[in-house]
Amino acid sequence: MALTGIQIFKLLPKTNCKECGVPTCLAFAMNLASGKAELDACPYVSDEAREQLAEASAPPIRPVVVGKGVRKATAGGETVMYRHEKTFFNPTLLAATISSDISDGDLEAKLKVWNAFQYERVGLNLRPELVALKDANGDKDAFAACAKKIAETSEFNLILMTEKDDVMKAGAEAAAFKRPLLYSATDATVDAFGAIAKDNDLPIAIKADTIDGLIALSDKLTGMGIKDLVLDSASREMKQAFEDQIAIRKAALKGGNRSLGFPSITFPSEMASNVDMEAMIAGMFIAKYGGIVVLSDFTTESLFPLLLEKLNIFTDPQRPMTVTEGIYELNNPDENSPILVTTNFALTYFIVSGEIEGSRVPCYLLIKEAEGLSVLTAWAAGKFGGDDVGTFVKKCGIMDKVKHTELVIPGYAAAIAGDVEEELPGWTITVGPREAAHIPAFLKTKV
Ligand code: SF4
Repeated sequence: MALTGIQIFKLLPKTNCKECGVPTCLAFAMNLASGKAELDACPYVSDEAREQLAEASAPPIRPVVVGKGVRKATAGGETVMYRHEKTFFNPTLLAATISSDISDGDLEAKLKVWNAFQYERVGLNLRPELVALKDANGDKDAFAACAKKIAETSEFNLILMTEKDDVMKAGAEAAAFKRPLLYSATDATVDAFGAIAKDNDLPIAIKADTIDGLIALSDKLTGMGIKDLVLDSASREMKQAFEDQIAIRKAALKGGNRSLGFPSITFPSEMASNVDMEAMIAGMFIAKYGGIVVLSDFTTESLFPLLLEKLNIFTDPQRPMTVTEGIYELNNPDENSPILVTTNFALTYFIVSGEIEGSRVPCYLLIKEAEGLSVLTAWAAGKFGGDDVGTFVKKCGIMDKVKHTELVIPGYAAAIAGDVEEELPGWTITVGPREAAHIPAFLKTKV
């Protein structure tokens, strides 16, 4: 059972030192109980208390890792019903299905095509994570060979889908090194599949067509010592499946039901007759609350919008995306190259750097920390003032890289030119264009 705020408070140091960011230990305890704080924020919790608090501070929906190595992926770990309450943490994992009777050549070709589906956006590499290998005919050797090949030769992690014990055992053993998700334990398969999951330390999905059924399977497997579960409510009808997602999330978050405190898996692949409809249903589950979404295939026209949706839904709405403060060298600059400065808002950086790169003019782009705000907002909020910018230019090391003393500031921050000049005596402060699209023409006047 989760602890109440008062129970947590009794285990805290009660010094009210404020280092956790709130004025009192009681306030911190209340935040911890409601999932709004992390236990690590208090550096003074004793080991003994930490152990007792672990359950209270654990996310109400357990993060479940599928896969190993750099491509391992996490589903779950969520703490809120609505994104604006805090943030959603672990983006929905996308899977596409391969049948175990596929030929070697077709498998290689498919993996090659799917592996190429990677898209760069705001400095991130967007790509799908999983292959769902589906048992076609009960041939355990073919299933294991396919699982092994996918695990060994591709960057995808695996879901192993079968209803047969011997097929699951063969697949799990062949691909255990890549920590596949076993799908799925039902009333009929829970004992055998639970044993395979336990023996190989693998996550396992459970499937039941009622909430009570899911709870019973969840309790049975956790009773066997298996911690990493994924829930399938078994409905393949859109409205019911959608309602199931909400009911499960609500039971875990609001009702404190630990038996349902796991990510879910959903199957648009079994709910639509074409990939367009599948993509639409997948979009619904990305928004609410699919931990894993299984499609029949990856096609670029359906995958790309889903990846972008994930990017948007799973970014922190209270924290703009940023890039690291520093000097960015574009188009191989030298000691005579122009120096431009702007803020660390990721979108600003990528638009400005894209225009500079497109101009082919070698430049230094200085990115100043401004809490991820755009230029005009940062200036209005006092985060991009002339003295701050001047101080940053002096400290960032650009003076060791160039022979000249001209700095180009953004057109929207023209008002800071005088203050920058004061902070950088002897420098020429040039006001650049307001719009990034005008940067290439502007730079041509500098070379
Ligand atoms: Fe209390 Fe720990 Fe927060 Fe200090 S950091 S106020 S001891 S909870």
